[in-house]
Amino acid sequence: MEYCKRCCYPANTKPDIIFDERGVCSGCRLIESRPAIDWEERGRWLKELLEEHKARAMEAGRIYDCIIPVSGGKDSHYQAYLMKVVYGMNPLLVTYNHVFNTRLGLRNLTNLVSTFGCDLLRFTSNPVSVRKVSRWAVKRMGDVTWHYHAGIMTFPIQAAVKYKIPLMVWGEEGFSELVGMYNQDDMVEFTKKKRQEHSMRGFEPEDILHDDLAMDEGITARDLAAFFYPSDEEIEEVGLRGIYLSNYLSWNGRKQTEFMIENYGFETAQRRDRTFNLYDKLDDLHANGVHDYLKYLKFGYGRATDDASTEIRHRRMTREEGIEMVMKYDSVRPHDLDVYLRFVGMTEEEFMGLVEPLRDPQIWERGPDGQWQTKDCIGNHIHDPGVDEVRLSLDPHRRGFIPSEPKRSYSRDDHVRESENLNEQEEYVIL
Ligand SMILES: [Zn+2]
Repeated sequence: MEYCKRCCYPANTKPDIIFDERGVCSGCRLIESRPAIDWEERGRWLKELLEEHKARAMEAGRIYDCIIPVSGGKDSHYQAYLMKVVYGMNPLLVTYNHVFNTRLGLRNLTNLVSTFGCDLLRFTSNPVSVRKVSRWAVKRMGDVTWHYHAGIMTFPIQAAVKYKIPLMVWGEEGFSELVGMYNQDDMVEFTKKKRQEHSMRGFEPEDILHDDLAMDEGITARDLAAFFYPSDEEIEEVGLRGIYLSNYLSWNGRKQTEFMIENYGFETAQRRDRTFNLYDKLDDLHANGVHDYLKYLKFGYGRATDDASTEIRHRRMTREEGIEMVMKYDSVRPHDLDVYLRFVGMTEEEFMGLVEPLRDPQIWERGPDGQWQTKDCIGNHIHDPGVDEVRLSLDPHRRGFIPSEPKRSYSRDDHVRESENLNEQEEYVIL
């Protein structure tokens, strides 16, 4: 397997990554290009756009001038801070509740709403439907969290149409950040097509109703309420537009998180199963483990690769330090897999059987004992030729991430004990 000579991404990264002639990936090159952008000018564009929407809302007698789709995480906090505190907007926060919540995530969502004084509209899918849809998605495409992405990318649009709010403010354009999918000059915006390709895996709810596996699970339109996209006419009537703040502002997730911890009460984890990153995607089972573990089982890399690559690109970690993190975390079986299996009523053998045909033969093979093993790993590529030539200098002010003060129920010892006892009652909350 070929690995980026600067970060930790393998050549089979999804969505597709491209290596240049020096062996550096498109994600690394995108982050490198950022300082050349005139961020002051872009900041002015954003201000103008927001002022225009504020005036339109006032003219129409609307209370809310924009929608912020939120989970309650660090980006949600930063988006709400920017809109409410910096730009003086009155956003409506909109959440799709996928029902696999962590206590920490719910605590942060409550903090978000109360700290910034924003109204929240929250749609909760019922667990009976979630069970059916999640079982279907894992069988159909090896994705335990299809409903998360479908809901997050659809319910805010339903809300925009219902409340006639023409502006949606998303945070980071994630695919650019990770794999450099879009150029920063593209100023890419949210579209139905982008949502369908990347978040829905090509499945609209209308398709699911005719899918044989979905029929086996007894899925009907009533199970898919949050996933039906409004009609073109409805979208046009509202004049809906979805912007990404990372196209207008120099985005730095970690710096922003530290600012939110210090000033606005955002709380981090103290320890995690599958990554050293204590602040990103804390609110759900999806990112805590199972979804990410599936990525590893399919493609041979996981969230520690994502997080280490980000740290390297922002000059806070050397490639060697990043590789150490990847080797420590990427293959760890997350303890919340048990929570998930119990919820959907599946054994681990059944689950692994479903994953089997999805394993990428570029990285996985059967060992002599018949067990799956990786053919290669980044640990074999520490000293690849060309690595030193494309190395970034370290930020002289770099330091380790300082998590929020541990709260009583989230002290390190408590968390370790919960992990060991698999006491998900303490850690996860359905609804
Ligand atoms: Zn790279």
